[in-house]
Amino acid sequence: MTHDIDILIIGSGPAGSTFARHLADGTSATILMVDAGSALGTVTGENIRNLPTPAREAAYSMAQKFPLAAVPADPQADVLQARPGTHLLNPRATGTPTHQGMPAAAMSSNIGGMGVHWTCACPRPGGSERISFIEPALMQSAFETAERYLHVTQQGFPATPLSEGIIAALNQRFASDRSRERLAQPMPLACTPQPDGKPRWSGTDAILGELRDADVRTRRGLEIRPDTLCRQILTQDGEACGALLYHLPTGQLYRVNARVVIVAADALRTPQLLYASGIRPYALGRWLNDQPQVIALIDVDAPSNADAKTSVAADGRDNVSGVTWLPFHEPDFPFHGQLMQMDTSPIAFKQEGQNAGKPVVGLGLFLAKELREEDRIIFEEQTDALGMPRMRLAYDLTPADLAGLDRARAAVDKVGAALGGVANGGEAIILPAGTSLHYQGSHRIGPEDDDTCVASPASRVWGFNNLYLGGNGVIPTATGCNPTLTSVALAVIAADDILRRFFA
Ligand code: FAD
Repeated sequence: MTHDIDILIIGSGPAGSTFARHLADGTSATILMVDAGSALGTVTGENIRNLPTPAREAAYSMAQKFPLAAVPADPQADVLQARPGTHLLNPRATGTPTHQGMPAAAMSSNIGGMGVHWTCACPRPGGSERISFIEPALMQSAFETAERYLHVTQQGFPATPLSEGIIAALNQRFASDRSRERLAQPMPLACTPQPDGKPRWSGTDAILGELRDADVRTRRGLEIRPDTLCRQILTQDGEACGALLYHLPTGQLYRVNARVVIVAADALRTPQLLYASGIRPYALGRWLNDQPQVIALIDVDAPSNADAKTSVAADGRDNVSGVTWLPFHEPDFPFHGQLMQMDTSPIAFKQEGQNAGKPVVGLGLFLAKELREEDRIIFEEQTDALGMPRMRLAYDLTPADLAGLDRARAAVDKVGAALGGVANGGEAIILPAGTSLHYQGSHRIGPEDDDTCVASPASRVWGFNNLYLGGNGVIPTATGCNPTLTSVALAVIAADDILRRFFA
């Protein structure tokens, strides 16, 4: 069986959905977006965190049904647990102190990818996090479009004396020579503020806009096909001609012909699919990086004008400090800092502060890892449960990364001193490599077709006329900030390139 369409998108996470939205808005071409995983909710791409608890739990257990998500039958006592909505690359991994092999590497396999599970922090990169070979005006405009698609706002939570007090105290301590846009401030969040003060979190539904509605999609020539693994991109003489698709529930394998092919299948499985298709440039899977992460709990001395009723929940925990951003700033603070009220934290803290009566916030510091080509995905001869090349990660922290973690621990104390103190039982801990879920660099873009990158600044695979990539794997710089806004912006640039070159 063959099908002919104009554009094939593999992967329906934020990157794939951005391609779908931008291309559907810019052309009447027919678009097919496939995903190996199933739809988890009734609204296409809705963020699972918006659902009431029973529906949320049902969605998580549905996500666990993906063949690679099976929990091993004899889990060791100290085996790492995947974050809700994700499954580990190596389900038997334990968190080793050396971080070798990135034990916590994980992925999501469902319609919307990780973009229906994410915490929605959308800061822009700064300083050396930025991509120097993309013209600033182009990047600026792509960020604006990305922020519009994701519904990014700094008003997700209402400003309270407590949240304002946190920002003021951080700026007193860390302002140094920061420009205005790099001062501590409310975190830009992908969400829509609600009257009850609890934001509605954006999933890929926000990116899709009216295309989240199946009838609108049919009318506008976009199909989102779940449970459909792309096994291979078909190529001939520098052209991608289509793909072999595999319907997981029935085992049917069929071919789709397409004029343009886009792979946005996350930073691990995009290289995997290219490798399986015989597209193996030297840089593929190399320069893999994840942001080393330090977390702690901070007791906050509530400002004297804070109303105790609105600042401190009955159980003593803060519930209205929202999410605060302390931006990456070199050389004094080479970390991305986020302070989160407890119910917004993506990490469940084992210990909670014991300083009853004081608001507590979770502090996360993300480091920009030293980039090395030897941190990479190794593709093995054997295949995984889906018939794709099995992946193993060669990965470790360098002496510079370890020194950075020491500095981050010291920075935790500084944040504690600025706000009140590090909570008893909430002292800084380093999370196993991979926990950030922000994997980058593995199919990165670059200014020239050399062995250090896989694709052009417009995310077109070097040597191919019509094969494009999306997702965090295209990000070529060492970043501390959350990557999704950047990869959505890069997908906008890539989609504009496709519109110009194929559908003008
Ligand atoms: P994904 O969202 O991972 O989607 C990739 C899709 O490709 C998946 O659905 C997968 O099933 C599909 N796929 C893979 N291989 C194939 C194949 N061969 N054939 C067909 N389909 C395939 N980021 C931030 O910036 N800020 C945050 O605050 C933040 N918080 C997070 C919190 C959590 C709990 C999680 C899980 C993630 C968080 N992230 C955050 C990360 C963010 O979700 C990712 O950066 C983003 O989803 C990446 O988008 P993507 O489209 O590249 O990939």
